[in-house]
Amino acid sequence: MEKIVYWFRRDLRVRDNWGLIRAASLGAVVGVFVWDSAVVGRSGRFARAFLVDSLVQLRDEMRRLGSDLVVVRDLAEFEGRQVVGSDEVGVFESTEAGQVGAELVRQDFLVDYDWRALPGIFTKFRKEVEPVGDVRVLDEPSLRGWVWNGERCSLDELMDEFCGVERRFSESASERMREFIWESRCLQNYKQTRNGFWGEGDSSCLSPYLAWGCLSPREVFVEIKKFEIEVVANASTYWLIFELLRRDYFHYLARQQGARMFLQEGIQGLALDWSGGNDLYEAWFEGRTGYPIVDACMRQLLATGWMSNRGRQITANFLTKVLNVDWRMGADWFERNLIDYDVASNWGNWQYQAGVGTDGREFRVFHPVKQAAEHDPESEFIRKWLPELAGISANEARMPGAHCDVVVDFDEAVGANRSKYLSQIRKVNSGF
Ligand SMILES: Cc1cc2nc3c(=O)[nH]c(=O)nc-3n(C[C@H](O)[C@H](O)[C@H](O)COP(=O)(O)OP(=O)(O)OC[C@H]3O[C@@H](n4cnc5c(N)ncnc54)[C@H](O)[C@@H]3O)c2cc1C
Repeated sequence: MEKIVYWFRRDLRVRDNWGLIRAASLGAVVGVFVWDSAVVGRSGRFARAFLVDSLVQLRDEMRRLGSDLVVVRDLAEFEGRQVVGSDEVGVFESTEAGQVGAELVRQDFLVDYDWRALPGIFTKFRKEVEPVGDVRVLDEPSLRGWVWNGERCSLDELMDEFCGVERRFSESASERMREFIWESRCLQNYKQTRNGFWGEGDSSCLSPYLAWGCLSPREVFVEIKKFEIEVVANASTYWLIFELLRRDYFHYLARQQGARMFLQEGIQGLALDWSGGNDLYEAWFEGRTGYPIVDACMRQLLATGWMSNRGRQITANFLTKVLNVDWRMGADWFERNLIDYDVASNWGNWQYQAGVGTDGREFRVFHPVKQAAEHDPESEFIRKWLPELAGISANEARMPGAHCDVVVDFDEAVGANRSKYLSQIRKVNSGF
């Protein structure tokens, strides 16, 4: 019987894992995760701690199925072996897979789509693929294992390395999904709550599980459909599917655009003058811009590795449209700090916020005070992360300069940056 290595990457699950099923059809399988690899990349301590916990769970699952999971340091361990792996998006990820010469299985999507034909606007893509038809979730395969005779590193040692990191997501992927959809039934009101800043209770918090592939988007979809049949189908259940499609869109975009996902001029090829310096960048990532909602979100990220979608939109928009700092520095900071870092969703959303990505050329601005008033009306979230604002009114707590001096004047900065952006667009449109 052939000895097959199944190379786990961002697909840390045994259920609905098309690559693992393919490997099992070829022979006896041992699962291998490579620690010094592109998928781990520059991810920060929260993402790595989450990863180690997920690997421990995956090892138990692989053992239950009659095989094993080993963690190795580097790709050299694959030399001379027959390797099947998951096809991941990202330039480094693809290069690395090419070096290994693995057979790759693409499986990170909800809807199958020819990415070469992907439109530059999400809504067009969504309308093409909606309504999402039948989606099948594949069962876990039964496996025959073999004994790995190469080097390996100890998962226990890796766990020790991250034991001081606070675990925000300690439950398994299926527990998290059950909690959000069935136990709390938060799904039912998701459309109304999803813009909250807290996470649990507001939105699904499934992103770390989806980012590491502990859960496939198809599994989430099937569960939502079940909820629609057994409980209710409403705008909220639809909206969660909508967000899974947005994820698909960015994943296909990353496949289509390759290295352009990381270029300063973005996929639009817009050469903009990013004049904001390091002092502004540092004030942003340390949470001391003087704009309370921006600083609260940035401090939350630094302390927990998590930030809500609304928080990400506000802070990314602020860095680019107000501070005029090169958007790639922000994307890089998120990459090194987010627990749910995902190359396609991160760089795609950053390009969009910077005005160099998908969905056209517009100078959209999020006003930090209005955003805070709408989504944190009692300023509870602001005060949690800026405790120095305790004791003043909710309205005062969201005002610029409430906790420290502002680094720039909002109206002045936005006015100047908008003129620069629009004049560049005019130049590009007129062919100069
Ligand atoms: C600047 C910026 C950077 C981002 N970086 C990442 C990242 O590195 N990793 C990541 O997973 N998401 C990223 N997002 C998207 C989004 O903010 C998170 O997916 C979401 O906040 C995760 O919370 P949730 O699981 O509760 O989401 P929910 O609202 O419950 O949505 C369910 C799932 O849909 C997907 N999803 C939701 N919104 C988006 C979106 N805008 N783009 C792509 N997928 C989406 C996610 O997989 C999410 O888990 C980023 C957004 C912005 C604006």
